[in-house]
Amino acid sequence: MFNEIKEAGVDNLMALMQQFKEDPRTEKVDLVVGVYKNDAGDVPVLDTVKAAERHLLEEESSKNYVGVMGDPALAEIMPALLLGADSPLIAESRVKSLQTPGGCGALKVGFDFLNTIKPGNRVWVSTPTWANHIPTIEGAGLTVAQYPYFRPADRSLDFDAMVSHLSTQAKAGDVILLHACCHNPTGVDLSLPQWQAITDLVLEKGLLPFVDCAYQGFGTGLEEDVAGLRHMAARVPEMLIASSFSKNFAIYRERTGALTLMGENATATANAMKAVVGIVRTNYSMPPSHGARIVTTIMNDPDLKAKWLVELEEMRSRIAGNRATLRKKLEERQVGADISFLTDQTGMFSYTGFNPDQVKRLREEFGIFTAGDGRINVAGLSSGNMDMVAEGFAAILR
Ligand code: PMP
Repeated sequence: MFNEIKEAGVDNLMALMQQFKEDPRTEKVDLVVGVYKNDAGDVPVLDTVKAAERHLLEEESSKNYVGVMGDPALAEIMPALLLGADSPLIAESRVKSLQTPGGCGALKVGFDFLNTIKPGNRVWVSTPTWANHIPTIEGAGLTVAQYPYFRPADRSLDFDAMVSHLSTQAKAGDVILLHACCHNPTGVDLSLPQWQAITDLVLEKGLLPFVDCAYQGFGTGLEEDVAGLRHMAARVPEMLIASSFSKNFAIYRERTGALTLMGENATATANAMKAVVGIVRTNYSMPPSHGARIVTTIMNDPDLKAKWLVELEEMRSRIAGNRATLRKKLEERQVGADISFLTDQTGMFSYTGFNPDQVKRLREEFGIFTAGDGRINVAGLSSGNMDMVAEGFAAILR
């Protein structure tokens, strides 16, 4: 049967990563991959993660199955992390979480769940959105529709187009996928008043929001990054949230995330969670344990939590610093073009607006590798490569 299978195309990002690896030049810069790097270009293990792992090595007494829901301690802390410990939604048991293998796992389980309720239902995603969203939605059997989001002219949000498109095209029962913060790939986020307006629209049209929260703490702060999400959760009847701990704990390979469900009342949420449990059981059955134990060990120890917050702040401010430095270096080179987008956008990614020819030129002439759509990983910039990148970008922008 395998003989019938045509060779699948290689994922664009994966192909670029391979090309970078094989490039013989010593002077080259990788701004492709979406992982946080320190100034030395490494993807280090956080000190607090190491401390939690040491603790686990000593204290863990069993490798018994964790259960379909994963680590109960993670399910316990998740709603408070997203919505604030004093959220009435938690007191009313309207919100429940389940541990998943990464944010990807949360998205896939969430979409599988939605497809069991309304097979083939429509999911609205931003143009553009993270490259894995559309295949994941379609893979679950749902239908993708796109709303305008990014405006290339000034590399910012086209909010009016977003609202007017959804107002006229979306219909009751449709799902709308939103990025909680640090929009991937554009770095362009909704402001709080814009979240309020989208909440009004969700209520008016009867849409179901699904919020992807993969970078909590990487934008402005752990609480600030979910301010819009919190506003929406307080007003809408139902919601799904996919969380990832890959970035904020730098535990990418431990595959740790959570799916959070919010229903109209405690019974609806409990029933929805039971349906989700059934979906997980026939898929991967249970999530891996180690990453969740790291997260809960840190979050439930006041001293470790305080240290983790400092490490998170370090990552966040390094990214913000890189944005400011690159902007300054481009201004020094008098590129002429408006480059305020570099510091206006937030999170790990910046959408440069470079077209495919410019992206190719950067790679071939300057050894600077960006994603094919011009997205750069701002955390890939460092004191060692900043001038080289500024030179290349200046040549392109002039
Ligand atoms: N959503 C978005 C927007 C992401 O950027 C990512 C990670 N690149 C994920 C979800 C998935 O995260 P994880 O690696 O935890 O599966």
